[in-house]
Amino acid sequence: MDLNNLTIKKFHEGLLKKEFSAVEIAESFFDFIKTKDPEIKAYLSLGKDEALSQAKKVDAALAKGQDLGILAGVPLAVKDNILIEGQPATAASKILENYQAAYDATVIKRLKSAGAVFLGKTNMDEFAMGSSTENSAFQITRNPADLERVPGGSSGGSAAAVAAGMAVAALGSDTGGSIRQPAGFCGVVGLKPTYGAVSRYGLIAMASSLDQIGPIAKTVEDAAIIFNAIKGKDDLDSTSVDLNKFQDSRFKIQDSKNLTIGLPEEYFIEGLTKEVAEAIDEAIKNLKSLGFKFKKISLPHTKYALSCYYVIMPAEASANLARYDGIRYAQIENLKLETKNLKDIYFNQRSGGFGKEIKRRIILGNFVLSSGYYDDYYLKAQKVRTLIKKDFDKAFEEADVILTPVSPTPAFKIGEKTENPLAMYLSDIFTIPVNLAGLPAVSMPVRKHQASSVKRQNELPVGFQLIGRHFRETDILETGRMYEKMING
Ligand code: GLN
Repeated sequence: MDLNNLTIKKFHEGLLKKEFSAVEIAESFFDFIKTKDPEIKAYLSLGKDEALSQAKKVDAALAKGQDLGILAGVPLAVKDNILIEGQPATAASKILENYQAAYDATVIKRLKSAGAVFLGKTNMDEFAMGSSTENSAFQITRNPADLERVPGGSSGGSAAAVAAGMAVAALGSDTGGSIRQPAGFCGVVGLKPTYGAVSRYGLIAMASSLDQIGPIAKTVEDAAIIFNAIKGKDDLDSTSVDLNKFQDSRFKIQDSKNLTIGLPEEYFIEGLTKEVAEAIDEAIKNLKSLGFKFKKISLPHTKYALSCYYVIMPAEASANLARYDGIRYAQIENLKLETKNLKDIYFNQRSGGFGKEIKRRIILGNFVLSSGYYDDYYLKAQKVRTLIKKDFDKAFEEADVILTPVSPTPAFKIGEKTENPLAMYLSDIFTIPVNLAGLPAVSMPVRKHQASSVKRQNELPVGFQLIGRHFRETDILETGRMYEKMING
């Protein structure tokens, strides 16, 4: 079985035709991970026993002639900030290295009841803060397309696992681009759902008004299958909604000539590398040949998005991270510092447990929320956030879907940006406005899915991003699906 090109759909068909069993496939994945992952380092932990017992259940159900859903037996990888009961959930932080999840996240519960198999937990930037997965406290993940380069972040482990054929698909989380940017860097598909489309219950919170869980997959079709399984109202997350209320059929996607794609002038800026600019032109040309109409649009407040994000996100993150006191989620051992009282515990655990980037953002968050600065920074950023959202509302009066690059450059070299946080922050310049506005967006490869064996020489994957109206994931997924059908044949 060619694990590299195994999609959910192919897996499902093969399983029903008895070409293989769910257990056989799960075992082949674990064997492959054993040989491949020492080089990529996508996984932080594996859940082999549970995975095999879930796969066995699927095989037994099939043998009994029961109907199997499309996700039954499908081997998935899960970012290490999403809880699976009884498994580690470190968020790639030392402060959680001994923590085991006490319950399932809602997305996990839903996927389990669909019969999915979880291979393991994937590496990420600590607490999802970063764009390269280099901020993990445990290991550096490599881009399967070029081992000298980063896989992007913060869901870099999930994207690399899918791109290297070490999982059929994966879950990631996206606060400012963490699903879309690594998907772009690794040549796979990543969907950031509308804020509220997917429950955040059981996701280790970074910035609660921006975070969303979403799929990383080999095809748009697979991403849509996972999205459909995890979406919808959940009583355990009051911000989650029933999506069906929002689907309207104002235009028929099949008739792509009715659909207008907007190109925001602010996204085609200096700093976009030649490779990315050329790839985006190619994507536009391909979509034009499918009959889509294009229109220039403007999102005038784009230039404030990054600064606005780096006020709101640290403010929320500093509040969310206050719960890690070194007591509640298991202690870090061997800190070798003397603890005489409670304050010492907090101090030692937090200073020894959090990495540099986390501390930087906690300090930033406390600063913008402190009295005297709150109005000048935090409140002002909230107002700018509203202006950014209004830009999109206006743009969607002229266009149905918006197309942009995913990031200004393809995957950069390991170590290239670690000393310069601002340069690192810039790699999310095209993804962050989407989170601020709470919109859905998918990032997908411009060129045919590049299994490592057929990859063009020296060519790094480049992705493009399709942004849709609130709760209209269908629009971008259908557009993406037409594109993918055309390039993959
Ligand atoms: N790279 C961005 C950050 O560091 C986005 C992270 C994310 O989406 N989780 O904040």
